Amino acid sequence: MILTITLNPSMDYVYYKDTFELGGHNRVNNPTKMPGGKGINASRTILLLNGDVLSFNLLGGDNGKLIAKYIQKESFNSTNLFIEEDSRNAITIIHDNGKQTEIVEKGPYVDNNVEKLIFSTIKDIIQSTEEINIVSINGTVNSDNKNFYYQLLTMFKEEITRNLIILMDLSQHHLKNIVLDTNQYFPDFIKPNIEEFGELVGHNFTTKKEILHYLKNNEFKIPFIVVSCGGDGAVAKVDSTVYDVNIPKINVVNPTGSGDATVGGIAFGFQNNWKKEDILKWSMACGIANTMEKGVGVVDKETVKTIIHKIHLVPMN
Ligand code: ADP
Repeated sequence: MILTITLNPSMDYVYYKDTFELGGHNRVNNPTKMPGGKGINASRTILLLNGDVLSFNLLGGDNGKLIAKYIQKESFNSTNLFIEEDSRNAITIIHDNGKQTEIVEKGPYVDNNVEKLIFSTIKDIIQSTEEINIVSINGTVNSDNKNFYYQLLTMFKEEITRNLIILMDLSQHHLKNIVLDTNQYFPDFIKPNIEEFGELVGHNFTTKKEILHYLKNNEFKIPFIVVSCGGDGAVAKVDSTVYDVNIPKINVVNPTGSGDATVGGIAFGFQNNWKKEDILKWSMACGIANTMEKGVGVVDKETVKTIIHKIHLVPMN
């Protein structure tokens, strides 16, 4: 079973408006509402692939209750830890020929006490659910503890007796602190997008070729890295091989959540014990299939199966 962890879920509101006037009075139709957060989106993907998923979410206040209600309507299993401070809202306005304007709140602050509660709750869930063998940690946490995720990883490695496959879809300092050479433990997989990877290594990448060279020439202690490049596919390091991942051109409906669908696809592939190259292709097909749907993290499994034949891994010598 896959456990997804989302520590800053949101209530997502998407508005569509032909033209949006900054500083003006914008009348809009009622929004499309859905629960958001990277792990929740990835859980949705896993569910639609018929995978076995349990989603753990940190929820707060009345907004947290609303998010829980929406999650309940979807059929993936979830378990929530409730705190006082309100969960966040994320507002997207799609306007002027596909322009996307976003307002994203910070979310409830995770202090020391909440942190302890999160760690102990996750540990209890894993210890009481023998079937969990994959953990996917997705997205941010509003904490001042820069080592929050490394400490969580350490807990998995030192306090859980069985071997877990750990996937981490993080960015900024959260990502930086889990790839440090001096660390004792590493996740099994990370998926920065091109900007996040550039920020991680301090280089502004503009082409896949540059990333290919970077991954080829630099040591990483994480065995499976996918640097996703939107419509250009990805560059991936699978153990010691670096691949240029080429994908077909398709008609995009809504690319939001493609990265989350990609990670959902990775988790599903690990659950099926596929070899990493097959997992990689499958995950790309999930990312692409998501862009063909309106919903975030939504994929059609039959579409995924069709697209997979159009994905090519070109190893770099
Ligand atoms: P993130 O959402 O994390 O920024 P990306 O935008 O890189 O991630 O998308 C993840 C994957 O989804 C890509 O590697 C690709 O397979 C697929 N994808 C994203 N955007 C497009 C697009 N415009 N056309 C086709 N596939 C896409």
